[in-house]
Amino acid sequence: MYVEELIRSTNAYKIIAGEKKRNSLSHAYLIVCPDADFLKEYLKVFARLIACDDDGCNKCRVCKLIGEESYADCSFYPREGTKILTADVDDLLSQTYIKPLENKIRLFVLSNVENMNGAAQNKILKTLEEPPANVCILMGATMDYSLLPTVKSRVKRIDVPPFGDKILKNTLIGEFSDIKKLDKAIAGGGGRLSEIVRIYEDSGVEKTTALCRAVLTEMKSSKDVVKFSSKIDKDNLTQFVAEMKAEVMRVTKLKLAGLLNDTALNEYSVGALLAIEDILSSKERAINFSSNVQMTVDTILFGILEEKHKWLKL
Ligand SMILES: [Zn+2]
Repeated sequence: MYVEELIRSTNAYKIIAGEKKRNSLSHAYLIVCPDADFLKEYLKVFARLIACDDDGCNKCRVCKLIGEESYADCSFYPREGTKILTADVDDLLSQTYIKPLENKIRLFVLSNVENMNGAAQNKILKTLEEPPANVCILMGATMDYSLLPTVKSRVKRIDVPPFGDKILKNTLIGEFSDIKKLDKAIAGGGGRLSEIVRIYEDSGVEKTTALCRAVLTEMKSSKDVVKFSSKIDKDNLTQFVAEMKAEVMRVTKLKLAGLLNDTALNEYSVGALLAIEDILSSKERAINFSSNVQMTVDTILFGILEEKHKWLKL
C-alpha cells in the first residue's frame, strides 16, 4: 500500500491523472525512475490509474488483476527475465491490433526499457510513431541514455525523482514501526525505496555504521586507507556508501548545532563534510555502473582524508 501512496504523491501521478481526466492521455509514456527494484510496482500504479474506472482504487477487480499481472487488457514485458527482447516486441506489436476486451484502453507495461537493445527499440519505433487507437504504452526505465533519440522523441517523458524525506516518513511509518530504524534508513536511503527497505531490514547495518565511524575518527594517513579498505565489504558497497553518507550527514548536523564533542570528528570542518558528502553522492550514483569496486573504495577513502586535510589548512 505504501508504494501506492508514495506514487500518488508524485507530480508524475498528477500529470497522468490530469490527462486521463481531460481525455488526453498520451499513447506512450517513458517513466524514468532510478529505483530499479520498485520500478515495476510503480508502473502498476500508473496502469491501475489509467485502466480503473475509479482512478486506481486498488480494490476493484481490474486493479487486483493488474497487480497480479493477469488483466486481459494489460500486457507486461519482458515476459521473462529483465530484458525486453525482439520476441517481446513482436508479441506486443501483434497485440496492439487486438481491440481491448473490456476496457477502453489496451495497456502495455514495459519494465527496464533501458536494457532493450537497438534492434528491439527500432522494432517498437513504428508503433510509437503510428500507434493504433486505444493503445497506451507505459515504458519504465531507470535511466534514459541507452534509449535511441528516435524512441525518446516519440514518447512523453515523465520523471519520478527520489522521494523526499517527509513524504517517506509519513507514508512508511505505518509499515515500518521502529521509528529510529526508519529515520536511519531514510537518512541513508537517498530517497530510493529499495535502499530504505534494505537498510531497515538489514541487521548488518549496525556493523557497517561502526566501520564508518571508525573511518572518520581513526583514519589518519594513506597507510590507514589500506587497512580500512580491506574491512569494507566489496559485495555490499551500496550499503557502505549509504551508511557513510548517513554518518557524515549526522556529524554535519551535530557540528552545525554546536553539539559535536568528539575531538577526532571536530577535525572535519563543515566545508570538508559537505565535500565528502558530495563525493559519496556521486559514488552512490555511479556504483551500479562501475566495475572496479576497489577503485571506488579507494577514491572514497582518499577523498575523505584529502578533504579533511585540505580544509584544515584553510
Ligand atoms: Zn480499481
